Amino acid sequence: MIIIGSSNGNVGIASGWAILQAGGSALDAVEAATRLVEDNPDDHSVGYGGYPNLLGDVELDASIMDGTTLRAGAVGALRGYRYAITVARRVMDDLPHVFLVGDGAMRFAAELGLKRENLLTPEAEQTWRAGIEGREMIDWHGVPELVATLLQRSATLTKDPEHVTGTVNFIAQDSCGRIASAVSTSGWAWKYPGRLGDSPIIGGGNYADDRYGAAACTGWGEAAVRMATARSVVLYLKMGYPLEEACREAFRDLAPIMRGTPNAMSLVAIDRHGNHCAMTTAEERTYVYQADGMGTFAELPRLLFRIE
Ligand code: ASP
Repeated sequence: MIIIGSSNGNVGIASGWAILQAGGSALDAVEAATRLVEDNPDDHSVGYGGYPNLLGDVELDASIMDGTTLRAGAVGALRGYRYAITVARRVMDDLPHVFLVGDGAMRFAAELGLKRENLLTPEAEQTWRAGIEGREMIDWHGVPELVATLLQRSATLTKDPEHVTGTVNFIAQDSCGRIASAVSTSGWAWKYPGRLGDSPIIGGGNYADDRYGAAACTGWGEAAVRMATARSVVLYLKMGYPLEEACREAFRDLAPIMRGTPNAMSLVAIDRHGNHCAMTTAEERTYVYQADGMGTFAELPRLLFRIE
């Protein structure tokens, strides 16, 4: 058994591991672990307390995949409900669909009886106001003011990627060998309303298949969408690459997109044997994992992949 996650998963991994140890499913483990990160008001990249979009609305994206049946569920631009991962799980379990967005996702969350709330904490709101207001406007030559503000802000924040990015990833393999993966995020801070990154895109930021393994991404979502990065890792595993090499090959695929940009990409992955790998293009990124024989989870540095 194993559970692996991004470093901000440190608040949830113990509960996921407890489920695995009690004989629970990988799906239940990754959902439960993710919910605790969605609860964390100090994590401004996920769930309650997440940074909002350009207009000050917190919009959440999440996805979950069952590697045994290849079923998947996802939600995008969900407002007013912190447990985006549970809404995604119920899309998978209860609907004949894979993906709900916006008003439909909210409607479904309400039908599930989930609590509706304001997800914008005073701290996140203050950071958003400081970011959006009081900045010198660049003249973007006739571009409407709102878009100009976004461009201005994005241009500034790409120099400060820790500030704009963040997502939680969890992948687990249970005692029956079943693999599941979960991803949840509030996305790119001050994003254009309605923007979706890789986190809710099955194949982009999340993919699991018991026969080969699973992968989940954090970082520049637009790049992972364009290269289908999570699915790529699993496909390279299918093609017989060892796990670390499968991850490297997926990063090599990203190079033409990422070269020369200040943006980062990170992923966690496991193969069907329960080996794990965590890789990043950024310095000093860590991940968390717990496997059989470990009394508690470990936080370790990721392997560095330099985009050249
Ligand atoms: N991948 C996420 C997104 O693009 C953000 C992140 O992980 O930093 O929405």
